[in-house]
Amino acid sequence: MATASPPVEELPSGLPPLPSYEEAVRLPNIPNPVPPPPDYAKTMQEPCPPHVNSPPPIISPPQVTVQNVVCQQSLGENPVQIQCPACLQVVVTRLEHSSGILPWILCASLFIVGCSYGCCLIPFCWDGLKDVTHYCPNCHQVLGVFRRL
Ligand SMILES: [Zn+2]
Repeated sequence: MATASPPVEELPSGLPPLPSYEEAVRLPNIPNPVPPPPDYAKTMQEPCPPHVNSPPPIISPPQVTVQNVVCQQSLGENPVQIQCPACLQVVVTRLEHSSGILPWILCASLFIVGCSYGCCLIPFCWDGLKDVTHYCPNCHQVLGVFRRL
């Protein structure tokens, strides 16, 4: 009868010794500096959301901005009496002068001729050369622009 050796579990040689209890307890206390974002794993698992209950895309009609600008031929460089399309009041337009193209052309021309000591800036001070914007005095709506060029 063979002598049955008792089952003895021996640690295989060559492995490093097991850490002590204190080392094993201390290891999990290392704080994780950057936890992975929770959504990252979810997005990797589901690259494409299922198109089961997705409603069809709503195509909104293009919004057309209606500018209530009255026909510009009737507006000159003087205030005119007109019915404002925004507030429906009959008003006399309020004018604002702004430098358009004409003052720049005259400034450049004067500079070329030789008026280089500030005289070329005279067109910017002359309202008769500027563009005229007509506003409604009630609702401040732009009613039209009179351009010199
Ligand atoms: Zn108005």
